[in-house]
Amino acid sequence: MNKAFSKLLPILTCPICHKNLKLINKNFVCTGNHKFSVKSYVPVFTKLNDYLEIESNAWEEEWKSKISKKALKAYDINMAVFKSLGYWEESGNASNLIPSKKDNIVLDLGCGNGVSTSKLKATQAVGLDLSTKQLVKSKNKYPNCSFIVGDARKLPFKDSSFDMVVAINMLHHVKNPQVVIKECYRVLKSGGRLLTVDPNLYNPIGFIGRGMYKLLRLKKIFPTFPQFALGEDEYQFSKKNYYNLFTKSPFKNFTIRPHRLERIFFFASILIPSLIMFPFYKNIIYILSRMGEGLVKIPPLDNICYFWKCEAIR
Ligand SMILES: [Zn+2]
Repeated sequence: MNKAFSKLLPILTCPICHKNLKLINKNFVCTGNHKFSVKSYVPVFTKLNDYLEIESNAWEEEWKSKISKKALKAYDINMAVFKSLGYWEESGNASNLIPSKKDNIVLDLGCGNGVSTSKLKATQAVGLDLSTKQLVKSKNKYPNCSFIVGDARKLPFKDSSFDMVVAINMLHHVKNPQVVIKECYRVLKSGGRLLTVDPNLYNPIGFIGRGMYKLLRLKKIFPTFPQFALGEDEYQFSKKNYYNLFTKSPFKNFTIRPHRLERIFFFASILIPSLIMFPFYKNIIYILSRMGEGLVKIPPLDNICYFWKCEAIR
């Protein structure tokens, strides 16, 4: 049996009735008789609807295979700068935020293609998302991680299972984010942390970008552009909405911070890759990013930040 898979068994529970699960003939069966399949060591607790099945193809790998080499190079350069700035929401590298380095179990909620899960320096990293096809691929690619097909609103985990839950650009893709936060609270150990990042409704670049995308029907030209893949259920949060979300949640201890201002060069350089030929391109975006990061810390400029970042402690 796969090691990461067997480590998963003690924390799993039936997402429907929360009764214990047993592995019978490569299927999970709960004592309430709910049955779930397992595909290539990936437990499947929910079924993806047709719309999301198409949407799941928009994830990074597929997108990367469809763009030009130049655009890909621009993408990589931007990513390298973001990484040097410590932007874990794009590099997927949240490991430096794990409180204790010893025996951590971390849930990557909305793990997409599993790259972010593979970068977590947790003792046990668990990725959860909706696409079986994607996660079977992820499991083959990152055998040391566990992947689970599940619904974030009905997590298939026992109470107090995780030291940390990371939800990078995830909450704004669900209709009932408050239900997801409640579930995160339930599956976190006492003292465990939830980290979330979601786009701000009033960031001018995002605001104009989304408008243009809809207005110019860019979906036809860039159907798989990950940053603009506007799902059926995609929302953005104003500062007030994001605060309300957590104020009404079971978390009593949370901090919301404005995060980043720029991303115009990121988008622009993918659409027009020759921009990266501009002298000192890397240094320019590094400096602008730092400046933006500083600016949004000064109210009322926080209202136009790119992301809201929340750290909540159970
Ligand atoms: Zn059940």
